[in-house]
Amino acid sequence: MFTTYRARLFLYIFLLTIFLVATLTYTYIYSRNAILEQSKRNISNTAQLLTSNIEMEENELLYYARVVRDDPRIQEYMFIVTKVGADANAMAKLFKREFDWLPIERVVILDHAGRSLLDPAASDLAIAVQDHIERSKNEIFYYQGRNDLELVAWAEISYQGTSLGTIAITHILNSGWLSQYQSYSGGHFFLEKNNTVQLSSLPESEGKTFLPRGNSIVMNGEIYQVRAIPLTGEGMHTPHLWHGISEQDILDQLDQHSQLILLLAIVGCAAVLILGLIIARNFNRPLSQLMQITHAVTQGTLPMMDKSVETNEIDMLANRFSEMLQSLREKQQEIDRVHRRLEESAITDSLTKLYNRRYLTEVFPKLIAQAQRDGQYLSGLMLDLDHFKSINDRYGHLAGDQCLSHISQLLKESSRASDYVFRMGGEEFLILSISDTPQGGEMLAEKIRTTLQTRPVAYKKAIITMTTSVGVSITDNHLSPEMALTNMLYHADKALYEAKNKGRNQVAVYDCGQAPTALLQESIS
Ligand code: GH3
Ligand code: MG
Ligand code: MG
Repeated sequence: MFTTYRARLFLYIFLLTIFLVATLTYTYIYSRNAILEQSKRNISNTAQLLTSNIEMEENELLYYARVVRDDPRIQEYMFIVTKVGADANAMAKLFKREFDWLPIERVVILDHAGRSLLDPAASDLAIAVQDHIERSKNEIFYYQGRNDLELVAWAEISYQGTSLGTIAITHILNSGWLSQYQSYSGGHFFLEKNNTVQLSSLPESEGKTFLPRGNSIVMNGEIYQVRAIPLTGEGMHTPHLWHGISEQDILDQLDQHSQLILLLAIVGCAAVLILGLIIARNFNRPLSQLMQITHAVTQGTLPMMDKSVETNEIDMLANRFSEMLQSLREKQQEIDRVHRRLEESAITDSLTKLYNRRYLTEVFPKLIAQAQRDGQYLSGLMLDLDHFKSINDRYGHLAGDQCLSHISQLLKESSRASDYVFRMGGEEFLILSISDTPQGGEMLAEKIRTTLQTRPVAYKKAIITMTTSVGVSITDNHLSPEMALTNMLYHADKALYEAKNKGRNQVAVYDCGQAPTALLQESIS
């Protein structure tokens, strides 16, 4: 099925894309689970961190309460106010002067009767502290005031071993307090009491029902993963603090993650596909070119093949093939040249370069077919030089050869391009000429005869003038080519014989209708 490299390459690209998608899908599922796990762990870790931070805050507040408790002047004033019955104003001024730096919101100093010595306005807090002390020894507790929840730390004030009263300081837990934790927890805080949100960093959630199921609640239509943050001294009045992270936030993170994975998958697949197509194109271009060229070579041609400037293996192979084609073409041209020379020498005469007798039989059928087709006349002009033997005898054989070359040149010049000039042997020539009129052959013969007579050969110091006798015969177009040739040669020969007999240097025509004059005379005699 995948027999071609192109198909295989596409298969590999396809498999690679599947592998890429599978890898990214696995990565996505794995990282999704990892994110969910990590998110849950983060929620627990944040809750733990917040728990210890709030513990620190509680201890800090308790420390401040003890700082006040341990102050000797406060103890002395306490003694004076409670035992001597002095006005508490002086103690209030002292407190303001000495402990203004304390980061506390409210403070009460109580005597054993539960009277607020510093600030009569803080009677609600005084009552709450008194209540608490009666019930618990825990020095930290939470108090729900009229407006806010307060973290309260208290300490017993003594003077010289005698207990005189209590100092209680508070830290108000309002939305400002919640927001300081929110800034690094990444979630929301819920102060819940009796399953109702008292205070929250989440807008529009206060006063709403807070009923955790497992570790999650639904608030404002959203699901929150929540963890309890235990507050010290939790009691009836103590609210519960919860830290919650919206599941939507986690899902949003996942969404971002999945979008990134999807983007990576698309980019990766596109990159693989583009890369694959480039590779396929790169491989395919030289290969398909090679395929076309080799096909053309098997069809018997040696086509031109452009060379590539690339240096990769396939292009280099194609370039070698191109070079091979070039050298084959050169060899082929050489063979063609030799072949043409052989063909020429087979049909031409070496001395005169005219066509030989062999070529006559080859070309004659074509010429007579043309004459038959066009209703023309094919004339055969048989020439024999007059007294040529005497030229040989007088000037030598070499001079005779030169004369033959000269005559051949004149014959070519005198005849038309469409005429064929043959050397039939020795100093005998034949010209085949097609003309529109029956007189065409005779006219050509006459022209040649006069040309030869008027253009002698210069040999050494001698001027050799030659003449020729010509026998002309018009081919019978109704005969077969073989018969027509035989007839034509026969009749031209007869006409030549007549011209010789009549005294040479003349033209005799053999008319197909009647025997030439010389023949008639011969037959008469
Ligand atoms: P005529 O034709 O007028 O009767 O007299 P002729 O002397 O030309 O007689 P003929 O045609 O019979 O003689 C041909 C002579 O041509 C014979 C030979 O010496 C000469 N000849 C034939 N072939 C060649 C050749 O290739 N070179 C040279 N130099 N002479 C040749
Ligand atoms: Mg002869
Ligand atoms: Mg002769």
